[in-house]
Amino acid sequence: MPELPEVEIATRRIERALRGAEVESALAPGMVALKSVKPPLDAIVGRTVTGVRRVGKMPVVAFGDGGDEDELVLLVHMMSAGRLQVFAKRASLRDRRSRVLVRLADGRELRLREFGTKQRAWAKLLAAEDLETEEMVATLGPEAWPAPPAEQLAAVLDQPRHLHLLLRDQRTITGIGRSWVDEILWEARLSPFKKGAELSTEEVEQLHSALAVLDRAIDHYEEVIGDEIPDKMPMPLQVHRREGEPCPRCGETIAAIHYAERITCYCPKEQTGGKVLADRRLSRLLK
Ligand SMILES: [Zn+2]
Repeated sequence: MPELPEVEIATRRIERALRGAEVESALAPGMVALKSVKPPLDAIVGRTVTGVRRVGKMPVVAFGDGGDEDELVLLVHMMSAGRLQVFAKRASLRDRRSRVLVRLADGRELRLREFGTKQRAWAKLLAAEDLETEEMVATLGPEAWPAPPAEQLAAVLDQPRHLHLLLRDQRTITGIGRSWVDEILWEARLSPFKKGAELSTEEVEQLHSALAVLDRAIDHYEEVIGDEIPDKMPMPLQVHRREGEPCPRCGETIAAIHYAERITCYCPKEQTGGKVLADRRLSRLLK
């Protein structure tokens, strides 16, 4: 699933490509993907793209009409397999991956696609002024990037839950998912199973500094990603999905916990006091 750095670069590129482009038509071939009833998707026809940004892991595309009418925004949730990209040509209507298509007057198309068989990605059109109170947005914690002040981070993490779960909970802090949580905890030299409420002031500081991995990821993407957003992002990961490889910092073998088709990687020497954690007992805690 695209996380904060991937969505940040995608929205920057889409904005660069589409700002000022006029909408000719819009449709949602994946009917379940469109959550809005009012305003209808057609309300963006004739409007121009006024900006593309990000809220947590969700892209937000704004459409203005150059006049007095309120801006409309399309809030997109890509779930695990969605991609939002600009294409030079329109998709065939037989392409079953298409969920929402915004066709532009110049022939290009902004397309929400979803890989795999499940339809989970969705988009919702709403008045810009209603975005902040939209449930998916209103319930979000502070953005993980730019990093919140250390005191705020300490306050939101003061919960009796494991860091691996806590950092991925969008209501606690928003933008981090299964890939970047491994990287952040490794950078902070903290166990995925340390509880938020048990962090010392020093450990909160370590975690706060470790959020810089998101900065570095975004900088990396700025360097390597051109106008086209690849289907598969070149993620600069050091430990996630690197089980069995040497830790890039200390050389210890990276360990992993597997659970429900998912995986959490960590360095036992630096993060868990030398302990390699057993899968079965811990997989329960990670759900
Ligand atoms: Zn290490």
